Amino acid sequence: MRAVVFERFGEPAGVREVPDPAPAPHGVVVRVEATGLCRSDWHGWQGHDPGIELPHVPGHELAGTVEAVGTLVTRHRPGDRVTVPFVCACGSCASCAAGDQQVCERQTQPGFTHWGSFAEYVALDHADVNLVAVADELSFGTAASLGCRFATAFRAVVAQGRVAPGEWVAVHGCGGVGLSAVMIAAAAGARVVAVDLSPRALDLARRFGAAHCVDASRTGDTAEAVRDLTGGGAHLSLDALGSPVTCAASVAGLRRRGRHVQVGLMPEDPKVPMSRVIGLELELLGSHGMPAHAYPPMLESVRAGLLRPDLLVTSTIPLAAAPAALEAMGTAPGAGVTVVEPWA
Ligand SMILES: [Zn+2]
Ligand SMILES: [Zn+2]
Repeated sequence: MRAVVFERFGEPAGVREVPDPAPAPHGVVVRVEATGLCRSDWHGWQGHDPGIELPHVPGHELAGTVEAVGTLVTRHRPGDRVTVPFVCACGSCASCAAGDQQVCERQTQPGFTHWGSFAEYVALDHADVNLVAVADELSFGTAASLGCRFATAFRAVVAQGRVAPGEWVAVHGCGGVGLSAVMIAAAAGARVVAVDLSPRALDLARRFGAAHCVDASRTGDTAEAVRDLTGGGAHLSLDALGSPVTCAASVAGLRRRGRHVQVGLMPEDPKVPMSRVIGLELELLGSHGMPAHAYPPMLESVRAGLLRPDLLVTSTIPLAAAPAALEAMGTAPGAGVTVVEPWA
């Protein structure tokens, strides 16, 4: 099969022929019809993820059709349209037993713990636990964007963030996950303040329901701007980019007893204003994807048209263009979601 391969961290990846994957007894091989390009792929390529072994194939936001099934798989068969959370759970550890597959103790992640979906085929573990059926009406490109950014934003806003109608929600960083969070929070009845450096990203945020936009390139103190716009601070604030600056601004823009959810990954842990966390009784929460069993309410909102992940897909490229697009994620993450189609 053809795949995007990198031999060394930070050095250009290329498209080449590699052996086809085979399914584990509990796993499947999926023919990849679409796979999203995510900033986490860029972090992996840069060497920020200690679990990656070289050479490596990135890619973890995918949708496609089941090509082959392992002998122990009972709920899926070839031809099924599927997607998968980027955290593939084992289904049997204590966290999985508690329903918290997103923090599984023996998780695998395509594109990190093994070869990912910037390829014509990808192997996925524990298929009966992790595969999510994709309805015929949902395009593969849209379904691919659900697996990491949209589902992560959904869990961050709804489950971890406990958004409520009428609350102020600040979203720092309006790339794929940030724009998803803007849309999800607005659909939940919250009033959203979007913060980004890019006018294009803020235009999209406004289109997806942001009540106010803060242009960070022209604003000295974005936290102060958020506090001013929200009458004292956001109830819920997300760092959807993942940088020391946006993390600190997210925490500093909260009102008393507000909730910060860290969604964007960072190579190094940031300085967090802990005196403010104590004095204002703030909550600091993490969000790590979403388990397959939690997808139905999100998929129902998509089916009903309340959530429009399709609008987040702003470009579609073939596999050959993926290496350059991966490199560009570092300096120009772009607005919206880029989807790679390996068979295009
Ligand atoms: Zn991702
Ligand atoms: Zn587990």
